[in-house]
Amino acid sequence: MSQGMHGGRMGRGFLTEEEKNNRPKITGALLKRVFSYLTPYWKQLLLILTAIAASSLLGLYPSILTGRIIDEGLIGRNLSKLIRLILLSLAVTLGSNLIGVGQNYLNTWIAQHVTFDMRNKMYAHLQKMSQSFFTSNNQGDIITRMTSDISGVERVITSTFTSILSNSITLIAALVIMYRQNWVLATLGVLVVPLFVIPTRSAGKTRWNLTRESQECSDEINGILNETLSVSGQLLVKLFGKEKYEYDRYHDANQRVIKLNVRESMAGRWFFMVISTFSNIGPMLLYLVGGILMMNYNQNITVGDITVMVALLSRLYGPVNSLLNIQVEWIRSMAMFTRIFEYFDLPVEIENAPDAVTPKHADGSVSFDHVNFSYDPERQILFDITFDLKAKHSIAIVGPSGSGKSTIINLIPRLYDCQSGTVYFGDHDVKKLNLEFLRKSVGIVSQETYLFNGTIRENLLYAKPDATEAELIAACKKANIYDFVEKQEEGLDAMVGNRGLKLSGGEKQRLSIARVLLKDPALLIFDEATSALDSISEAKIQEAIEPIIQSRTSILIAHRLSTILAADEILVLKNGRIVERGTHSDLVKAGGTYTELYETQFKKALENAEK
Ligand code: ATP
Repeated sequence: MSQGMHGGRMGRGFLTEEEKNNRPKITGALLKRVFSYLTPYWKQLLLILTAIAASSLLGLYPSILTGRIIDEGLIGRNLSKLIRLILLSLAVTLGSNLIGVGQNYLNTWIAQHVTFDMRNKMYAHLQKMSQSFFTSNNQGDIITRMTSDISGVERVITSTFTSILSNSITLIAALVIMYRQNWVLATLGVLVVPLFVIPTRSAGKTRWNLTRESQECSDEINGILNETLSVSGQLLVKLFGKEKYEYDRYHDANQRVIKLNVRESMAGRWFFMVISTFSNIGPMLLYLVGGILMMNYNQNITVGDITVMVALLSRLYGPVNSLLNIQVEWIRSMAMFTRIFEYFDLPVEIENAPDAVTPKHADGSVSFDHVNFSYDPERQILFDITFDLKAKHSIAIVGPSGSGKSTIINLIPRLYDCQSGTVYFGDHDVKKLNLEFLRKSVGIVSQETYLFNGTIRENLLYAKPDATEAELIAACKKANIYDFVEKQEEGLDAMVGNRGLKLSGGEKQRLSIARVLLKDPALLIFDEATSALDSISEAKIQEAIEPIIQSRTSILIAHRLSTILAADEILVLKNGRIVERGTHSDLVKAGGTYTELYETQFKKALENAEK
């Protein structure tokens, strides 16, 4: 018996409280769905079944041969028979192991293919989810489902299914052979098995609890490290003088882990001691009773028979133990499948209409017709928004923070869909347009510029993979970032750092303007950074953005007067409603919300810039 194997497996033999509470409902429909992922591979599965049966049965055969080796070869003093039996036994072992190798290959192959199918399907599905899915779900959860849950499925196929089959076959075959040899010894063997299995399970549980505690401790340590050794975390620690506090927290958690690890390792030792003692009692009992039967009752029993019984007995432990664990593995696997299917069942909210149209050309014009929108049913964000933006014109949207400016923008490329009213892009309702076309035609420079960890070039090429060097440089020049690029030793191949951390806010925004210029969208949306940039960066962005606005259809979410003045029309938003609209001079004269904003916000920004 391989003790190491059970040592590794036993940790999975128990359910946590949380798992007990969240037991999945195992229904016929669920099973059918699980197996539907296996059906494409039925031929390979059939092969595996045969292989498992063959290797389990062949695996038992050498134990039976041992009896004949002793009786016919050794006791019978027949050398040639002895050699033949030994060779046969070796050949059978080799055969069974070779089949095992093939079975393992097939197993892994199927598991990899099933999870490959699942992963791709899930990734494609998640990409179709609307933005609200990503804002309302924890990113960690999404990633766990994509990675650990799906890897769990792989384990189910490679281990759980195979384990049930091979252990049941081995167990039944061993019992049948034992009873055919001698029912008294076989019954004794069966009675001995719990002696081994019960201590194994209880020692396993102790060790499992310790492992879990130490796991929780390590998670805590990882949490501390993640929080405090990140760029912004360290900043917080330093600024609040929390070094000692964080050190103590880290130190304590580390100390707990040490204690737990020592206890766990000792529990492991005790476990092996108990198991090896008990696993020896069984064979000794069989020798004793077998010996008594043979000597005193002169039953038709040979030394070889007793040896076969002992050998088979040791083959019972493993399967019994594994099968006891299977129920737990089964529940856990089904829970995993249920979680994965939950994601698959999320409806795709925003997708191409069946009759979606793809116009040949987009002029970038937009109109909102009595649009109402809410992220959650409880709270409406936009009320009756109506406006027209003609091709080659520009609109500035201004308003206090939280008034719904970015929300209006989100409705145009259908990051969200409005609940009532219509958003038109060109002459078409956006809901009737081909999504790919729509999103290609709209370019957004957002406040939160997202850059990938890579070079400037890679970030730019994301918008247009086949852009030439000249196009890249032209875009950088237009976006007023080329002087920065030139200053870099590696030029366009300079790294931007994780999420662009190596760049300043202004540089990041100018880089994302260059990126959008490469995309060359019919409609350009510019969400101006609210955060104060220094006046030089601000002027540079301004210089970049103004000529761009003049030459194409654009919407500007503006915080600075210069940007507002560049637009043809200004919409003033307050609490999700357009409260005023017109040109700067009209609005200032009107003396309403705009004037208020002008006095408090724009003028100050202007004065700051002039300083
Ligand atoms: P700012 O100038 O600060 O960027 P804004 O005018 O662009 O503000 P929006 O971002 O459109 O404002 O937000 C309008 C309202 O909608 C806010 O009250 C905000 O809390 C809410 N909101 C924004 N995004 C979501 C979301 N994904 N889910 C739920 N509510 C949201």
